[in-house]
Amino acid sequence: MMMQDKNQRVALVTGGTRGIGEAVSRALLQAGMTVIATYHSNDHAAQAFARTSGITGVYKWDVGDFDACAKGVKTVEEHHGPIDILVNNAGITADATLHKMQQEQWSAVIHTNLNSCFNMCRNVIEGMRDRRYGRIVNISSINGQKGQFGQTNYAAAKAGILGFTKALALETAHCGVKVHAVAPGYTETDMVSAVPEKVRAQIIEQIPVGRLGHPDEIARAVRFLASEDAGFVTGATFSLNGGQYMA
Ligand code: NDP
Repeated sequence: MMMQDKNQRVALVTGGTRGIGEAVSRALLQAGMTVIATYHSNDHAAQAFARTSGITGVYKWDVGDFDACAKGVKTVEEHHGPIDILVNNAGITADATLHKMQQEQWSAVIHTNLNSCFNMCRNVIEGMRDRRYGRIVNISSINGQKGQFGQTNYAAAKAGILGFTKALALETAHCGVKVHAVAPGYTETDMVSAVPEKVRAQIIEQIPVGRLGHPDEIARAVRFLASEDAGFVTGATFSLNGGQYMA
């Protein structure tokens, strides 16, 4: 068995090459962890991330595909050692009001945003339980807490993550595995850049602090929850949304 310094925990961040995930990968690296970042299709962004971050453990698979996750986790663990920290961050939107939503839009969002949590957790949880240590941080959203027009698929997936987190936290609290959800508000990433300028201005008007969040602000919260310091926290939902929604 590979022996590890406890300050060199192995952390895997899904969707860890862009946006919030990239900030999380960099924050965990700064905290002294061995960081693995995964992505889905944007090779260009992944290569730029590997070059600028110094994180060479970059892997490509679809987190919505159970078999791909099983194979990916096995490969990562063979090369880097057991995964101690899992951040389920990968996510997409495919917005439409329900009366116009296509079945593909529903399924894609549920697969990528919610089934991914099962697909990834199922493949690391036995190892974490056996080793009596683990940290899982699932990235939900303010829109899973309050609902959002045009996002029945996304809100359902992100609300599902909150229930999944609490149930898994109960199952694993006694074996050193802590499970958390982080619910960001609107944060400056490609996902939000895709929103038309007019809608963006309307969103900012609804945020009491008067601005979007920065990925680093979300990453610092994840870094705390992923750390040894968070040993008495489990099943929590940590909301970072500039005061837009107080759950
Ligand atoms: P981005 O679109 O900037 O980045 C998404 C990342 O997820 C990319 O690395 C992408 O890979 C990866 N990804 C997407 N689909 C898959 C897949 N099927 N398999 C593996 N990886 C995948 O997103 P954000 O940084 O904005 O969002 C990150 C998380 O935070 C998401 O879960 C999102 O729902 C949540 N969130 C975001 C908010 C925001 O305002 N930005 C607010 C609240 C929550 P690739 O580069 O290959 O496309």
